[in-house]
Amino acid sequence: MDLHLKDKVAVITGGSKGIGLGIAKAFAREGCHVVITARTAAEVEAAAASIASEFGVTAQAVASDVSSAEGCQVIVDAAARLGGADIFVSNAGTGSNETVANAPDEKWQSYWDLHLMAAVRLSRALADQMEAKGGGAMLMNASICAVQPLWYEPIYNVTKAALLMFGKCLSVEMIKRNIRVNVVNPGLIRTPDWEKTARELAGDGWEGYLQSVADEHADIRRFGSVEELADFCVFICSPRASYSVGSAYHVDGGMLATV
Ligand code: NDP
Repeated sequence: MDLHLKDKVAVITGGSKGIGLGIAKAFAREGCHVVITARTAAEVEAAAASIASEFGVTAQAVASDVSSAEGCQVIVDAAARLGGADIFVSNAGTGSNETVANAPDEKWQSYWDLHLMAAVRLSRALADQMEAKGGGAMLMNASICAVQPLWYEPIYNVTKAALLMFGKCLSVEMIKRNIRVNVVNPGLIRTPDWEKTARELAGDGWEGYLQSVADEHADIRRFGSVEELADFCVFICSPRASYSVGSAYHVDGGMLATV
């Protein structure tokens, strides 16, 4: 299926590794030029170079912290230099581990800035670029935890729930400008970060630990691959999904325990 994405410009935050890198590669495979961002310059630059050489597209690396207004602005400027964004995936994010009783205000604020304000600031600015090109698509990468919380990460659950609601509110405004906004809620996606955590918790038995997590949480009894999620994200941002507006999609191997 031709997704009609050739020569579009896609901005993906947190694109240096894991899910974001997988999404960036999947867009590049369709002929999109990409702007990928992360804080660690060496990693995001290496990822961009590898995408450009593998897929023959322009891949621009931006090293910035999306949890600040300045960090978002450099991303907007980079997209403008490529002619403006057609697609934006708000993906940068990370898990947490705390209790409400013990977490300080600063921790709440930093996750709010990372998961919510980055999406607010970038979507507001990139919408102008999209509108100037006739329209576009945005995808908020929230989490199944936005609707089905995990007990050990209340700050993650709450800020991802905020991102989910933001995506819905944004959609109402943006569709009037021919910009489609949707939300994806992944379940267990096997990333280097999950593998690192498993090694820390279970040593040589880390593969068995990951299997036990999948057995406990996902009906399909395995983690999803980055590619399985990325293909879905690229489709939903493509003109092939032109009637999908303001929805949240679970890509979770059956992890969601309700409708
Ligand atoms: P990774 O830790 O593998 O990658 C996170 C990416 O975000 C990296 O590129 C990282 O680069 C970047 N990043 C983190 N903080 C910032 C920041 N402040 N500013 C700019 N970039 C930042 O995570 P995953 O690929 O696993 O997760 C990606 C997204 O998917 C997250 O939002 C996560 O919550 C969500 N998700 C993941 C699931 C999973 O099972 N893996 C399940 C559900 C949702 P750097 O550190 O250099 O800044």
